[in-house]
Amino acid sequence: GVKDRINLRWGVHGAEPWTNELREKIEDLWGGGYDACDIYGLSEVIGPGVAAECVEGKGSLHVFEDHFYPEIVDPDTGDPVPEGDQGELVLTSLSKEAQPVIRYRTRDITRFNPEPCACGRTLRRIDRLAGRADDMLIIRGINVYPTTIESVILEDPALGGHFYLIVDKRGTLPELHARVEVKEAADLANADAIAQRLQATLMEVIRLRVNIEVHAPGALPRNELGKTKRVWEQTTDEDPLG
Ligand SMILES: [Zn+2]
Repeated sequence: GVKDRINLRWGVHGAEPWTNELREKIEDLWGGGYDACDIYGLSEVIGPGVAAECVEGKGSLHVFEDHFYPEIVDPDTGDPVPEGDQGELVLTSLSKEAQPVIRYRTRDITRFNPEPCACGRTLRRIDRLAGRADDMLIIRGINVYPTTIESVILEDPALGGHFYLIVDKRGTLPELHARVEVKEAADLANADAIAQRLQATLMEVIRLRVNIEVHAPGALPRNELGKTKRVWEQTTDEDPLG
């Protein structure tokens, strides 16, 4: 087919956030030797081309710092976050003449990756987007992004990707609950160990104690139409998921 004749080696994929799982799928479909790389941009600033992954350093995107000055701030206060912490990406254009932007709040959440890139370029790198600032939860003073929890869940080999987060606001301080599903029904026997492991990893990553409920495969409600709403609030004794 056409695939063999054009021998595609490298693709730059953008427009909407896409997962690493989708990257693997695209690369597999094009056969070995194809690299799918992410590009980031926004129309208010330039469109695509603010930052891009190189083939050697997938996972983080080099910012074209000769044209854009990036900063990472706390979306709540606007203050810069400590180097390497997650926050909202703020961009200043350096070379745009007709419509420059100064400290433009993107609402996109990422962090600077301080590791030098294997490709040798010294342009600073930002991690692939971890979500939108508007999705941020503040639990006991800690900023939590649902996508961060999602990636921890996806990395656990015993868990499927379907989950819900419940912010329990019945007490004085909110509590965060995660409802997850095991991939195999047989793993329900290890539910306690799986919950403890997930709780420990989340404590390490987001520095917050998350209460874990482990459910059977397919036990959590599904929304077949459109996007699944992952985060729910509980304010009464009624279960928000029914
Ligand atoms: Zn690189």
